[in-house]
Amino acid sequence: MTDDTKIKQGTDQKTQADATAAPAKKIKKGLEAIDRDYKEREALKKAKALGISYVNLARTPINPDLLRILEPEVAEKAQIIPFFRIGKRLRVAVVDPENPETKKVLEDLKNQKFLLNVNLASEPGLQEALKNYESEQYKVKKKIEASYEEKDIKAYEKELAEMTDLKEKIESGTSEEGLQYINIGAMKTGASDIHFEPEEKEVRIRYRIDGVLHTVMRIDQKVYKNLANQLKYISKMKLNVSNVPQDGRFSFILNERKIDVRVSDIPTQFGESFVLRLLDSARSVLTYDEMGFQNEYLTKMQRLKTINNGMILCTGPTGSGKTTTLYAILDQLNSPETKIITLEDPIEYNLKGVTQSQINEKRGFTFGSGLKSVLRQDPDVVMIGEIRDIDTAETSSQAALTGHVVLSTLHTNSAVETIPRLINMGLQPFMVAPALNTIVAQRLVRRVCDHCKVLKTIPPAMLKDIEKTVGSIRKVKPDLAMEIPKKLPFPIGCEKCSHTGYKGRILVTEMITLDYEIRDMILKEQSSNSILLAARRKGLISMREDGILKVLKGLTTIEEVFRVTSVAR
Ligand SMILES: [Zn+2]
Repeated sequence: MTDDTKIKQGTDQKTQADATAAPAKKIKKGLEAIDRDYKEREALKKAKALGISYVNLARTPINPDLLRILEPEVAEKAQIIPFFRIGKRLRVAVVDPENPETKKVLEDLKNQKFLLNVNLASEPGLQEALKNYESEQYKVKKKIEASYEEKDIKAYEKELAEMTDLKEKIESGTSEEGLQYINIGAMKTGASDIHFEPEEKEVRIRYRIDGVLHTVMRIDQKVYKNLANQLKYISKMKLNVSNVPQDGRFSFILNERKIDVRVSDIPTQFGESFVLRLLDSARSVLTYDEMGFQNEYLTKMQRLKTINNGMILCTGPTGSGKTTTLYAILDQLNSPETKIITLEDPIEYNLKGVTQSQINEKRGFTFGSGLKSVLRQDPDVVMIGEIRDIDTAETSSQAALTGHVVLSTLHTNSAVETIPRLINMGLQPFMVAPALNTIVAQRLVRRVCDHCKVLKTIPPAMLKDIEKTVGSIRKVKPDLAMEIPKKLPFPIGCEKCSHTGYKGRILVTEMITLDYEIRDMILKEQSSNSILLAARRKGLISMREDGILKVLKGLTTIEEVFRVTSVAR
């Protein structure tokens, strides 16, 4: 027999074997399923006999954070896995609670002050669950734990498609568990808000990711009723009240970080609608550069740390990242020699070395009254969450005029509008002019996802828009280096960006630093339009123009810039 025929025969035999393998495989799979089902029923029986709960691990998604409670070797050896946790209350699944190894681990967990709820699982169920230790999420999480890089956390975001399992889990589990899963899902996708919107038959759940709402699932009205009650209960809202708006808050732990959640509830036609704002107080402060300040605006921001009195106002609509900017400025001003006090609602980040206090309107601790008390504490720098009334505006400007740096926010569409806004509030021009130092107006645009973007030739209509803006930038800043590339990135969508085509956000800004000429114009009560023209002569680049500069750099898209600046100009 030649070598050739040997090989040929070999292949023939293999093909024959394959032909019979397919049905055999099917039968084997079927038998496995029956066997598995039998083992689950056995486990259920055993649990009943022992008087403990049973858990079908095959149907229980496990938060990878929980895996860190036990090392994989320990979990494997002791046949135990944690599968659900709220605070110190921990649910674990075991195969045999009387196993000495298992007992030892249970004892260890108790010593770590966990309040244990032991559930019985089948042996194959547990083996399956232990595979979670090999999952990408667990591995990536381990890496993050070592490096503590907040931006890496986004790397373990799983696509929104996985939320279909979540829906099943929510509809079959308790409302307490359901809510926990929705929160975890939001954290994993990097959502800032969760919206519950009742419709006629179902309730839509949406996550706001990078500023844009995405529908993640629809749940049954009946399931929602329990979920809504649970949400009201943990947010300390009145359970028996559903016809007037209510506010509340709660917090949960994820990745060993405390996440504060602000909850607002309004009655609607088909039931109560909730919006949850997730505040991760352990987030790190971004640098100006990371935030998106560039060119002259970056220099202006960096220069702020040298000022020793005056008001710095950050303006824009809700969700435009104003607080983030203020925190970045505070971070720059923060030093052992400087006393910084903040008045916030809510406290969004924790800053070391800064005295942060929470506003409590119900108890009369408002921005206005709080500021007066804060000034008696001899601060160098004060941050007030928002200037809403004349009282706060007056006290802030007096503080700015008496040697304090005052940081705050206002709701205005553009930088220059801040001036008439303060005057319309009742603040005298002779106060505004000397007190105000810098105005930062801003919006957030989404960054194009680097993983899936595609470079395409700029369509003629878009090119026209770009050329027009570049022309107007050249008029105010003839020296600024700008180039219109032949191709620009277009968003596509991939797993990394939850199929949105965008990942992360960047600021588009405009800044006015008050100088002698502008102060004089304010004192002479000149129109905001003439102040704007003066600022333009001095080289003010508008928010939209700043956005287009970022489009040219391939950071975002023209649609994004137009979307957020359409009201601005
Ligand atoms: Zn992508």
